[in-house]
Amino acid sequence: MREVRLWDEEERRRANYVDDLVRHADVLKELGSLQRRAQTVRWWQLAEQLDLRRALRRTEDDLARVSAQIDDPELRRTIVAALIGRAVSQARQHSHRNTFHPEVLDELDRVVAAARSSLERTTPAAAGGFQGMTTHRKDVFVTQLPALAELLDEAAIRAYSVDTVEALARIASDEEMLTWVGDDQCVVQHRASGLRQHFWADRVPVPGRIGVFGATNARTYKVASLVDEPDPGPWECFVGLGIGTRLYRAGAELMPGVRWWSSVAKAPAVAVRRRLHAEDPYIWHWSECTWCYEQTPEGWAGLPREAFAQHP
Ligand SMILES: [Zn+2]
Repeated sequence: MREVRLWDEEERRRANYVDDLVRHADVLKELGSLQRRAQTVRWWQLAEQLDLRRALRRTEDDLARVSAQIDDPELRRTIVAALIGRAVSQARQHSHRNTFHPEVLDELDRVVAAARSSLERTTPAAAGGFQGMTTHRKDVFVTQLPALAELLDEAAIRAYSVDTVEALARIASDEEMLTWVGDDQCVVQHRASGLRQHFWADRVPVPGRIGVFGATNARTYKVASLVDEPDPGPWECFVGLGIGTRLYRAGAELMPGVRWWSSVAKAPAVAVRRRLHAEDPYIWHWSECTWCYEQTPEGWAGLPREAFAQHP
C-alpha cells in the first residue's frame, strides 16, 4: 500500500510540474507581446504607458515565480526521459525487444526522426502522469514548451538513446544471480536489474502425464526481493534484454528434471519460451507449438523424453 501512495504522490508532483511548464510558456508569450506593444506606444499616450508598465511588472513577477517553480532539474530529467522513452518505443513497435535494446543503434536515424515527429504531436498531458492531471491543453505540444524544447530536439533524443542503450547493456551483461531454494521451489534474481522469478513444482502425479511439472510467474517485482535494497528501477525498463531467458535457465538448473508449463503470456515472454522450447522441448513447454499440441492424447505433457527426438 505504501508504494502505491508514493507513486500517486510522484504523479501529482509531475502533473503540477507540467502545469507550471505550460504556465511558463504562457507567461513568456505574454511578456513578449507586452514588450512589442511597449515599443509602439507614443510618449503622449500617458494612460496607456502607465497600464503597460503595470502589466509588464506583474508579468515579470509572474515569470520570476514560475521560473523558480520549474527550477527542478531532476524532475525535468525524469519527465524528459519518460517522453523520449515513450516516443522511441512508439517508433519501435515492430520489435518485441526492449525499447533501448542495442538493436536500436542499427536504425538510429529513422528512430530519432520518428520520435521527434511524434513528440511534436505530444500534448503536455502525456508528460504529467494521470493522478491529479490538470493540464489538458491541446493547443500546445511538449516541443513548444521553452523549458523542454532543447531537451527534446533530435540531438538530445539521439544522445539520450545512445546513453540509455549503454547503461542498459551494462546492467544486462552483469552476470550475478542470487538464488533462494526451498521445498520444491526457488527464486532466482538478477542482481543488477532486480528482475526475479519464482519457480515451483507439483509432485502429485497426474494420469497420462509424464514427469514432474512446474510453473513460474511473470518476472515482475511482485516476488519479494532477495536483497535488502531498493529495486534499481521500474521492472519494465529491463524487460526484453535477454535477462529473462537467463532467469528461466537458472531456475530450471536449480530444479533439474522438472518440466515447465508455459501459460499464455505477453509477447516478450512468448519469444523467450519459444527459444527455450527449441533448445529442450521436453523440459520447456511452449503453448504455441503445433507439433506438441497435436500429440495424442495428452499433448506435450504426455510425452516421454525419447518422443522429442521427432520434434521439429
Ligand atoms: Zn513443441
